[in-house]
Amino acid sequence: MSTNRASARFEALRVAGSRTTRVFKKTFSRPIDVNLKASEYFGCNTFSFEMMEKKIPSAEIAILREFATRDTPLSLDLACKVADAVSAWALSRGATHYCHWFQPQTGATAEKHDAFFSFDKKGRALERFTGKELIQSEPDASSFPSGGVRATFEARGYTAWDASSPMFLMESENGLTLCIPSLFISYTGEALDEKTPLLRSLCALNKSATESLRLLGHDVKHVIASAGPEQEYFVCDEALFNLRPDLLLAGRTLIGRPPPRGQQLEDHYFGSIKPRILAFMMEAEHELYKLGVPCKTRHNEVAPSQCEFAPIFENANIAADHNQLVVEVLRTVARRHQLQVLFHEKPYAGINGSGKHVNWSLSDNLGHNMLEPGDSPMDNIRFLWFLAATVKAVNQYATLLRMSIASAGNDFRLGANEAPPAIISCFLGDTLTEVVEKLTTTGGSLTDRAKNINLDLARVPVIARDNTDRNRTSPFAFTGNKFEFRAVGSSASISPSLTYLNSAVSTTLSEMNETLKKSVAQGRSLASQEDILKLIVQTLLENKAVCFEGNGYGEEWHKEAARRGLPNIRTTPDALLAIKDPKNKAMLAAIGVHRGDEVDARYNVKLERYIKVRMIELETLQEMLSNEVFPAAIAHTRILAQSAASIKAAIGNIPVEIEKQLRLTIDLTSALAAAKDKLTVFLEKCSSIHNEPALAATIAAEGMPLMEDVRKVSDQLENLVDDQLWALPKYREILYVM
Ligand code: ADP
Ligand code: MG
Repeated sequence: MSTNRASARFEALRVAGSRTTRVFKKTFSRPIDVNLKASEYFGCNTFSFEMMEKKIPSAEIAILREFATRDTPLSLDLACKVADAVSAWALSRGATHYCHWFQPQTGATAEKHDAFFSFDKKGRALERFTGKELIQSEPDASSFPSGGVRATFEARGYTAWDASSPMFLMESENGLTLCIPSLFISYTGEALDEKTPLLRSLCALNKSATESLRLLGHDVKHVIASAGPEQEYFVCDEALFNLRPDLLLAGRTLIGRPPPRGQQLEDHYFGSIKPRILAFMMEAEHELYKLGVPCKTRHNEVAPSQCEFAPIFENANIAADHNQLVVEVLRTVARRHQLQVLFHEKPYAGINGSGKHVNWSLSDNLGHNMLEPGDSPMDNIRFLWFLAATVKAVNQYATLLRMSIASAGNDFRLGANEAPPAIISCFLGDTLTEVVEKLTTTGGSLTDRAKNINLDLARVPVIARDNTDRNRTSPFAFTGNKFEFRAVGSSASISPSLTYLNSAVSTTLSEMNETLKKSVAQGRSLASQEDILKLIVQTLLENKAVCFEGNGYGEEWHKEAARRGLPNIRTTPDALLAIKDPKNKAMLAAIGVHRGDEVDARYNVKLERYIKVRMIELETLQEMLSNEVFPAAIAHTRILAQSAASIKAAIGNIPVEIEKQLRLTIDLTSALAAAKDKLTVFLEKCSSIHNEPALAATIAAEGMPLMEDVRKVSDQLENLVDDQLWALPKYREILYVM
């Protein structure tokens, strides 16, 4: 009965409230001075290019480094050299196994371990690792989402080494495993993972951006996208977490009355970090430094028990791998502290949810940032060129960017006054807006603010660096020398967002390159500054509609965006359609980011995932109502009814106030029973819909409001029912007891 469950809750509360802070002793898998500075052991568990340099000629290492942006395959000969070097290193460190570490379309990573252990021809035991094993492995691919690209009976897909991302040793209590960052591809060459399209997009971007730079008169070898993802998450005590079926199965609370104290005191953001949480963060950072993840920032976020982690930015491909590692390491290390981390976009109602701010820019092989306003007119032309290409990309491919952030969890955040709206727009800040205005209108004088914008100098503005402007309500904001894609979900892999952003920018750069080439006067090799600036201005003029400096949370913006014709796509099922839009599909095919039926497959995978996530939520909710809420409500009703009967026996009548309470409880309990039935009917309806888009649409249109309604009744009961009967840990406990 619920009394026993409720006592489990009180026991969990006692345990959670009396835990001590775990003291961690810095560990290294071999004896190293524990007082080392982070910089002295950073990357000690990664097989870096510097380490390879002792054994492999640097020309060959350059091939490995540039694997992400080149589309030529690696030679087996080079793989054999690396296999020898890396296995010698890993074995000397005590590793027993290796695995291809890859990113199927589940949002998480996957790994299949194989031992180095083997036999030679004479049957003698030894350790072995070959170039072939490094380059390729064949996990049984049939159980990963493929969206129909690879029929289950054709279960063969393979993983292929991504040479541009360093291999690393994953430590666990009882040993080490060598992880090989890998792509996951079907035998017919289609991408089955998140990494392959990302690398293809980097490849395309490299081509168009280097061409742009050559046309602008810069001699560079290659260009790569950089990314710095800020990761938000929640922390809660494991004992309380384990008592919530919804947190365990759905990653978010499906019911739960928001407590009187939420985030309104504004004391959590940047507040002092609780000792148990800080201890966990420090241990996680220690593990991450060993893995070569450049940890930089940690702080409390807006909501109670919400935190943020941010690294120093890296090449987009490595940043994406590292963000996956951050998520994994935060999870495992939290458990050592009897904590659980929640990466769900909206784990609790009534307080802010979590996102990922993906900071993005482009840099060339000389280390120049393309989005850094420069000191010279030449630099500024480059800056404006890439700015214009990005603004155009966001305008032209807004639906694709919206699609890249669509998920069941993110539907709760986008447009919910805590995260940017579902309308994709671009924020430039006062200074840049003024520059754009000045460039795109004739005449007009500049204000003091932009005084140092010199338009006389061959009509090329000198642009003041301005890092002060912040607009937290914009989904895509310029922040001084990079864009911040602020609408990405906290549980999402950053790869899709980066992939489609890179793809869009690569395309607009190519288009600008073509136009510029046409405008170059005969007999000249370079375009004139006039021509370049004219094209920049024209591009900005044509795409200015996507720029918005105001409050993205306001109702006004919705109206204004509609006037401007900007898409406002509210749900995941609708947002996903964008990938099948002929314009987007053609663009992705043209630059080779998606081949064959990959686009349809991605759509299927994402839609299926949306449906599965929602079905888990609906079924878990129904179970919780049956097993937890209803029994507690009935028990409470019985106690009230029995008490009323006793009172009547004692004084001859039931006081109206008491009767009112009893009536209210009975009414709510009946409403709950009715809600439970409605859920059952809805679930039956769902099982009869066999067309996936129709099912997803039905869930979005009917299932979501239904879950909302049910929740309201349950949360009212939570407020009414005797605390002793309530088995589920309450918001105040999960959020504050740590
Ligand atoms: P905020 O003020 O937005 O909270 P943070 O300092 O927390 O900023 O995070 C900013 C992120 O942007 C960091 O991860 C940082 O490394 C990253 N970043 C800085 N420059 C670039 C760049 N050129 N390309 C990509 N990311 C960058
Ligand atoms: Mg930020």
